[in-house]
Amino acid sequence: MAHVMDQLSLGAIVQVRDRLLAQQARGRKVFRLESGDPSFDIPEWVREAMERALREGLTHYTPSTGILPLREAILEKVREENGLRIPDPDHIVVTNGGMHGLYILFRAIIEPGDEVILPDPMWTEIAEHIRLSGGVPVTVRLRLEEGYRYAPEAIAEAITPRTRAIFVNTPHNPTGAVLPREALEGIARLAEEHDLLLVSDEAYEHIIFDGLEHVSIGSLPGARERTLSVFSLSKSYAMSGLRLGYVAVPGSQGKILERLKKLVRCTINGVNSVAQYGALAALTGPQDYTRAMAAEYQRRRDLLLAGVERAPYLEPFKPSGAFYLWAKIVGWPGYQGRRDDWSLTEYLIDRAGIGSSPGSAFGPAGEGHIRFAFSCATEQVEEAARLLPEVLQAAGGEGSG
Ligand code: PMP
Repeated sequence: MAHVMDQLSLGAIVQVRDRLLAQQARGRKVFRLESGDPSFDIPEWVREAMERALREGLTHYTPSTGILPLREAILEKVREENGLRIPDPDHIVVTNGGMHGLYILFRAIIEPGDEVILPDPMWTEIAEHIRLSGGVPVTVRLRLEEGYRYAPEAIAEAITPRTRAIFVNTPHNPTGAVLPREALEGIARLAEEHDLLLVSDEAYEHIIFDGLEHVSIGSLPGARERTLSVFSLSKSYAMSGLRLGYVAVPGSQGKILERLKKLVRCTINGVNSVAQYGALAALTGPQDYTRAMAAEYQRRRDLLLAGVERAPYLEPFKPSGAFYLWAKIVGWPGYQGRRDDWSLTEYLIDRAGIGSSPGSAFGPAGEGHIRFAFSCATEQVEEAARLLPEVLQAAGGEGSG
């Protein structure tokens, strides 16, 4: 039988990035709309806290689940801001980014053959984490006509006796859809009825537009004791390279907590100590930095949306959160003899140096779509938005170009 790792991809975005960087090496200006990495610097008080930690020699092993003051600060944040009912800092596990939090979580809850329900399209790593743990990803197709809402009715149909958990991600990567409270309540009711766990990925909790509110499913009745919530400082504080995330575990999930503790010990044995002091400063410092970034992302969204709306072959969905613009490809004449989403991605790189991600990288429902990230600098987003209509208008008639 094939090794489980051989079922995983090396990542579509890596391929796009390599092609884009090759263009750059040839002297072309490139626009980094392929991946979601905040253009902002970390807040200055975070940098200072990290410098202080270094100077003070706080560079030794930490408790493998994280330093206590950080877990205390996280506890306060998830209680007050997210409305989670977490008993004490022992139920917080600090992880190497949200990615690692999700990895250990799926390992902790899945037995071989267990099914986990997730949306399609979805950030690829979720299905891969599920497979890595011997689980079976069961997808629920999201539809443009329904505003990419992850509908409780559709989830209900996907439940089988093997279902272990429902995975929820709002704001959603790749569509930017934000789940309203009533949809989350419906999902919570389903989980209660069928006695399922909920895995809530809230990596984009602070990137939300048009005055909408972020609702944590773990705060809802019926979900409080069955939700494992994963958060990240990558987007909220532009700390993506510092790799800081955490998992919040309700009081009644002692067995899962114990497994998570074993998993952090055996995988990383604690996040980089200096990054933990940075995270403490981020969580306890002023929060207007995060709000200002969200406002700038909204400006970028509007710029990019206006550009994509003017471009032929693209039908954009207006995102309410995260920093991705998802568009359906319509009537694309093709490039180098192909008409799939990859050919459009390649065309935009080769002809304009604009990065994107082909929708098919996010699952079968993503085929025929494309994702643009607007996390790179505003000037880049602005120029890419101006170029997109021009370069696509020039596309007709070069089917073999
Ligand atoms: N969840 C989602 C939906 C994401 O898109 C990402 C990052 N792209 C993450 C979690 C994890 O981010 P990190 O590991 O940087 O915390």
